[in-house]
Amino acid sequence: MNLSRNVQRMQPSVTMAISAKAAAMKRQGIDVISLSAGEPDFDTPQHIKDAAIRAIQEGFTKYTIPGSGIIELKEAICRKIKRDSGLDYGLDQVIVNNGAKHTLFLACAALLDPGDQVIIPTPYWVTFSEQPKLMGADPVIAETRAERNLKLTAEEFRRAITPRTRMLILNSPSNPSGAVYTRAELEALAEVAVQHQVHILSDEIYEQLVYGDAKHCSISTLGEEIRRLTIVVNGVSKTYAMTGWRIGYAAAAKEIIAGMDKVQGQEVSHPSSISQKAAVAALEGPQEVVAQMRVEFDARRRYMVERLNALDGVRCTLPQGAFYAYPDVSSYFGRRAGERAVADSVELCAYLLEEAEVACVPGAGFGTRQHIRLSYATSMQNIQRAMDRIAEALGRLRA
Ligand SMILES: *Cc1c(COP(=O)(O)O)cnc(C)c1O
Repeated sequence: MNLSRNVQRMQPSVTMAISAKAAAMKRQGIDVISLSAGEPDFDTPQHIKDAAIRAIQEGFTKYTIPGSGIIELKEAICRKIKRDSGLDYGLDQVIVNNGAKHTLFLACAALLDPGDQVIIPTPYWVTFSEQPKLMGADPVIAETRAERNLKLTAEEFRRAITPRTRMLILNSPSNPSGAVYTRAELEALAEVAVQHQVHILSDEIYEQLVYGDAKHCSISTLGEEIRRLTIVVNGVSKTYAMTGWRIGYAAAAKEIIAGMDKVQGQEVSHPSSISQKAAVAALEGPQEVVAQMRVEFDARRRYMVERLNALDGVRCTLPQGAFYAYPDVSSYFGRRAGERAVADSVELCAYLLEEAEVACVPGAGFGTRQHIRLSYATSMQNIQRAMDRIAEALGRLRA
């Protein structure tokens, strides 16, 4: 059977593969602690659930018009953007989709032609490198440096640009590194993007999850020229613990939104009517629920990173956003425990899963070799137990 060339070029999601293996071990009765999750462990707040239940009971269960999102939700999105970024977007400049992952896909579909290049800085969320391939476009991986906290500099961006470059994918706060770009760093990138007329696909899904003095800045706020080139991607999954509801959205120039709408209309019509009502409640309702989750994530973050840095040979910068720690564990590569050798991050994660019964994700999947990703979107108790087990298992690896 010959699958299409574009599909053959795509990689399946590594994070989903790890989660599947951990789930299979759990089914066998093994007490696996999963630090591989990419979603909040909190429940969706009650007032949001109530809005969905009301939608069902009121019969709001049919196709919605317009397909690009119900007006009530689009208005809520425009108000949210105004509130947080100070920018005015009209109803024809926003679109609602089936999760932010789908929003990213539609932006690629609307803007990319075969042979176009998309610059993706390391480390990158696994999806970024694969979606452009489905359009026949080519991901161009731009290496970043530890000294710059794994953030792309303007100079590195400039060097990666060719006549075929169409887009840069930015993700701040970053999954997996937790790095947050400062306003000054974004200004430097924006200048290069405007000069070369490169679109910015700005994935801001972790916008509300920033800690300490870190501040989220959207590159779209840095002037009219960069705003016209930028597709801001956001959603309710991470901020409101609503991953299963599948609501994401974009704000961009109306021509780009119209292109995305055309694809969505022929592909899935629109996102769930019920979830759209829930998303209105999320965006317009009380925001204290977000603050509470942020406080809890922050405490776990500090604890996990302290434990990681206490391990011999592990280096972990304090992540400023999202809910992942991304330590450099490369000093363990080439070591062994008895018969078992650990050559790289993939083998280290396999070792930790089998020997420590802790699931982590190898950095190789995010385009960096030295790291592994540990999610702190799980209870403090789980994090404590997992860190004890990791410390014990790493301690058994000998040079
Ligand atoms: C979780 C995640 C998303 C996807 O969110 P959905 O709205 O659930 O599709 C997008 N980008 C990044 C970087 C993520 O980690």
